[in-house]
Amino acid sequence: MGTLRCEMCDASYSWDKNIWRCSCGGLLRIKMEIAFPIKKIEKRISTLWRYREALPIENDENIVSFGEGMTPLIEEQFNGTTVLLKEDHLFPTGSFKDRGASVLMSKVKELGVTDIVEDSSGNAGAAVAAYAARAGVSCDIYIPATTSSAKLAQIQCYGATLHENPGSREDAANAALSAAEEAYYASHYWNPFFFHGTKTCAFELCEQLEWTAPDTIVVPVGHGTLLLGMYIGFSELLDAGIIERQPKIIAIQSKNCSPLYNAYKGELTRVPKVKKKKTLAEGIAIAEPLRGTQILNAVKDTHGEFIAVNEREIEDAQKEMCMKGHYIEPTAAATIAGLKRYMERDTAERVVAVLTGHGLKWSKSL
Ligand SMILES: *Cc1c(COP(=O)(O)O)cnc(C)c1O
Ligand SMILES: [Zn+2]
Repeated sequence: MGTLRCEMCDASYSWDKNIWRCSCGGLLRIKMEIAFPIKKIEKRISTLWRYREALPIENDENIVSFGEGMTPLIEEQFNGTTVLLKEDHLFPTGSFKDRGASVLMSKVKELGVTDIVEDSSGNAGAAVAAYAARAGVSCDIYIPATTSSAKLAQIQCYGATLHENPGSREDAANAALSAAEEAYYASHYWNPFFFHGTKTCAFELCEQLEWTAPDTIVVPVGHGTLLLGMYIGFSELLDAGIIERQPKIIAIQSKNCSPLYNAYKGELTRVPKVKKKKTLAEGIAIAEPLRGTQILNAVKDTHGEFIAVNEREIEDAQKEMCMKGHYIEPTAAATIAGLKRYMERDTAERVVAVLTGHGLKWSKSL
């Protein structure tokens, strides 16, 4: 049985306890024994659950899955240089958030929880709503009313109760936090089980590269569920002796909302809240990331860096990707804009960029 360890006061809880943060208010980290029985893994069906021994669920019967994962890894050229793209926009709900939702909702089922709340700028809400539907769990999603209408409709179609907040993304989060006093908070950024779903992106990449790590990964970052998940995943592969070092993490923010980039540039160890401006990259428009310090530390530990891209670069990247046949949403295009900036340096590294969200989430002609 695994445990939940507080980042702040070091308290320890059994993971069959129905909690999502420490009684002191601190963030919880999962401690568990993991293994990668490669021969067995390679014989299993191609879902993220093939890494079963590394996933924090006790009983197989609690697994909530649509057969998601093992998204394709394909080559693409940018200015004559080959880059690998991990196609995580090809998930059942159209974003990588399904990785986290599958593991988190399995935990919810294992705990016997029947009501959950979540807040989101769109895709996490859609993922949690879909997996809640599959698990037969009742679900309330708090969301800013400015979210893309395709995402709002998607959440409602899954049968979740949608609470559109007229205020900011942060107001929606506060509304969810109050509701979480009555129901389990299936938060993609508070709840540690979500990150042990997103970490499977690292496992898949490693397996697709014949059990080696890329030199560099380029990922978008708002709350850091993909970034920290990748960091956890590659750390576990490193500890298991499968890879030799962590890939460098290049973290992409939108210039119009770049608290992490600012803190990195200012050499701060904490991340002050920013006043955000409107951005096409709504999925990473997080003014005050809860795990800001963790994200800074993860990027620095891998000798990576932060890059902030402007609206023009996002729009250009969106057009270029569509013209190449990749239908992605603008938040995912921000990653490509950052990738292009990074590739200007002409490195000989093996670079993987993750496509995080599908174009159908947005759908506007360019
Ligand atoms: C959620 C999301 C992100 C950012 O993920 P964080 O966990 O907030 O860092 C990036 N792209 C898309 C499409 C998303 O839905
Ligand atoms: Zn604590």
